[in-house]
Amino acid sequence: MLRPAAIALLWLAFAWAPAAVAQSPATAASSADDAALEAKVQEIERLAVTAHWHESDAKIDALAPVRDALTSQQRHRIDYVYLRNRALAGDQAAALKGLAELLKQDLPVAFRMRVYTTATGVAANLEDWQLAFAWLNDGLSYLDEAPEESAKLLGAASYLHTLVGETGRARELALQALRLVESKDNPRALCLALSDVALAEDHANHFSEAEAWRHRQIDACTRAGDPVFIANGKYGVGKMAAAQGHHVEALKWGREALAEFEAVGYTVGAYSARLVIAESLIATDRQLDQAQAMLADTLAYYRKQKSDLAIAETEALLAKLAEKRGDLAAALAHTQQVIQVSQAAEVVSRERRLAYLQVQFDTRLKEQQIALLEAEKQVAALQVAATKRRQLLLAVGIVALLATAILLAVLLRHSFRERRRYRWQSEHDGLTRLYNYQKVRKLGGAAFARARATGKPFTAIVVDIDLFKQVNDRYGHAAGDEALRSLGAWIRETVDGRGIVGRSGGDEFTILLDADATEAGAMLQRLRDRIEPITVFGQTFGFNISSGVCQAGDGASTLEQLIHDADQALYRAKHEGRDRVVSADDAVAAPAPEAGLVVVGSGIQFGRHATERCLSEIREAQVVFCLADPFALAMIQGLRPDAINLGRHYAPGKDRRQTYREMDEAIMAEVRAGKQVCAVFYGHPGVFADVPHRVVRRAREEGIPARMEPGISAEACLYADLNLDPGQRGVQSMEATHFLVHDRTPDVAGLVLLWQVALSGDLSCTRLHAERDGLQALVDKLLRWYPPDHQVILYEAARLPIESPRIDRVLLRDLPAAHYEEYTTLVIPPLGRLSDDPGSALRASEPPATMQ
Ligand code: GH3
Ligand code: MG
Repeated sequence: MLRPAAIALLWLAFAWAPAAVAQSPATAASSADDAALEAKVQEIERLAVTAHWHESDAKIDALAPVRDALTSQQRHRIDYVYLRNRALAGDQAAALKGLAELLKQDLPVAFRMRVYTTATGVAANLEDWQLAFAWLNDGLSYLDEAPEESAKLLGAASYLHTLVGETGRARELALQALRLVESKDNPRALCLALSDVALAEDHANHFSEAEAWRHRQIDACTRAGDPVFIANGKYGVGKMAAAQGHHVEALKWGREALAEFEAVGYTVGAYSARLVIAESLIATDRQLDQAQAMLADTLAYYRKQKSDLAIAETEALLAKLAEKRGDLAAALAHTQQVIQVSQAAEVVSRERRLAYLQVQFDTRLKEQQIALLEAEKQVAALQVAATKRRQLLLAVGIVALLATAILLAVLLRHSFRERRRYRWQSEHDGLTRLYNYQKVRKLGGAAFARARATGKPFTAIVVDIDLFKQVNDRYGHAAGDEALRSLGAWIRETVDGRGIVGRSGGDEFTILLDADATEAGAMLQRLRDRIEPITVFGQTFGFNISSGVCQAGDGASTLEQLIHDADQALYRAKHEGRDRVVSADDAVAAPAPEAGLVVVGSGIQFGRHATERCLSEIREAQVVFCLADPFALAMIQGLRPDAINLGRHYAPGKDRRQTYREMDEAIMAEVRAGKQVCAVFYGHPGVFADVPHRVVRRAREEGIPARMEPGISAEACLYADLNLDPGQRGVQSMEATHFLVHDRTPDVAGLVLLWQVALSGDLSCTRLHAERDGLQALVDKLLRWYPPDHQVILYEAARLPIESPRIDRVLLRDLPAAHYEEYTTLVIPPLGRLSDDPGSALRASEPPATMQ
């Protein structure tokens, strides 16, 4: 069914009258003249919606001479009425142009929305759909800013949506507008909003609903006193009645509407009412001539307006009329017209839809662009935030780096200081702060070599406090310490940087001077003069020193020899009564040290087990031999760098007996050369040691004095580490191979120790490692007396203070699989308990009483 679109359009332009334009403070009259002018403007606006447009036009003309006195806002309001009148008068093009200009002006928002509303209607009337939808969209963007004008614009929006077939949306918009005005006491706004809802229902083909809304419109518009919209409501009722086939009723409402449209001079409305009348007359077969005349008149009008839809509707009615009259040729001609014009209208309709879609598209595009811009803005903000965070992180990183650098610097400084401290401690004596013996040797070695190379004099002095033990005994150890500190300071003061000064140990000091014995003697005299009584804890005491001096000459080829000779001179000083200086050159002094051999034991842990006696023998001997573990050897060579390592005689696969003989010969050669020889052996020199016993025996046989000083043996350590007392059950101690190869019976009631168990079964004396066969043979023999699950101990004494002894408890039968060192000892605890009656065995061995 064709819709009379153009008929409705014109009232749209007419409908949005500016009656309720509020006066803004800016336009308030400030004087009587201004007030009069404002009153005139308002009068024009009132007439525009209540009277024929001629009247408001006349008033506008009358105001022309004082137009310059109007404010720009007032001029815009007058212009708006004038332009709207042009649309009402039928000059839509002029109205459109003027409204477009007006919209370029600076207008208050509410007024601007009103102009948009009217302009949208005019553009639609002119079928400039692109412009109509563009203005509509612009206007809708102000909805929130001017709610009082929103309803009207929503009405226009609803109408335009009906035209593009968006009937659902059109209904929504109209009802939205209605809700806005229903809450307010504004009958005219309600009148217009109801008209929109009715029209939307009409276009949605909801005829009865539309009729009902039209009735409500008539009521509201009557209350508002708006004749145009009362007539429009009546036209609507008639049209809906006709659509539902109620033609008599439709005729009545159509006629009323026509009369009222003509009364207000609303031409477009009048023609639309005529169509309703003609349709009803034809349908009721009444006054067909009148219908014919009306339709001819209407067709001429619409042709002039170039309103295709309305032309098509008029032609359709003319076809129906011709058909009624039996003029089929005319009916056919009119129907062809309907088809032709409808096609044109279809084109327009498509254009309209296209324009709508275009604007919708533009809007969506714009929205998308805005969304894109928003997104870009957010991205930019995020980037700024990220940059800030990066900067922050960078700053934190730099601070962390700086902190790390400072920390590292502090740690480095600390570790540097620590290193310096450790180094200092390793080279100095903590009590006197002088060099220790090792450092004196090191520095002295270089100085001695320099002196020899340059032929300059070099002298060694050894100073020792006389009867220092008595100082400790009488005044206490702290007083002794103070005496040592004081003497150290006096020596340093006296030497005054011209030599090397160190504490050799105990109460002995070594001084090495780039000077001859005479200068050394003078220096020692100054030192003895400098020594004065000291007071500790209120007790004052004094002490003397003895010194031995030896100037390097042809005799002493090494520093050790030189110091040794100085030591010998000191020995003579002590011997001669103390408190004196003795030079090694004093030929007639004491006799030369006695040639001979002393064999000493370094103990198991050299640092802890070497006795004072052992150390002094090492220092005083002319030749030192050493057979010890690498640690002990290193320490002995610290004391005596010239110590000869007897270990060099060992070789893989070499018969140990051969090795031992070579060692004997090396030692005996020096002893026979008349030297004072000291041979140091690991542990106790007389325990499981072939060489020491032999050399002592041979020296003595050759008439050379020889003696053996005891040392702490592995067995001594064993009793301590295993907490075993050999005195309780007795102990049987023998070399493992000896036990294996000889007819030896273990005393199972006591402790059995088998030494060098790793080498058991090695009759060749060449092996230094454990072999399973030998161990198995040993176990097999032991199984004759002991059960296989008898728990035994594999023991190794700790050789370093930082080590712990090895105490591994294993079952006898598992021995072959155990791990061994060359020096591992097998400890077999006693088997079973002893008799409760200790005397019974003794008694059993006694002869019977009767025999006595
Ligand atoms: P001599 O005249 O024969 O040298 O008799 P002496 O008593 O001085 O004997 P010797 O030199 O052999 O004794 C050194 C003593 O020094 C033994 C020890 O008690 C003591 N001594 C060693 N080191 C220190 C120490 O650091 N502080 C103290 N207070 N005494 C020490
Ligand atoms: Mg002393």
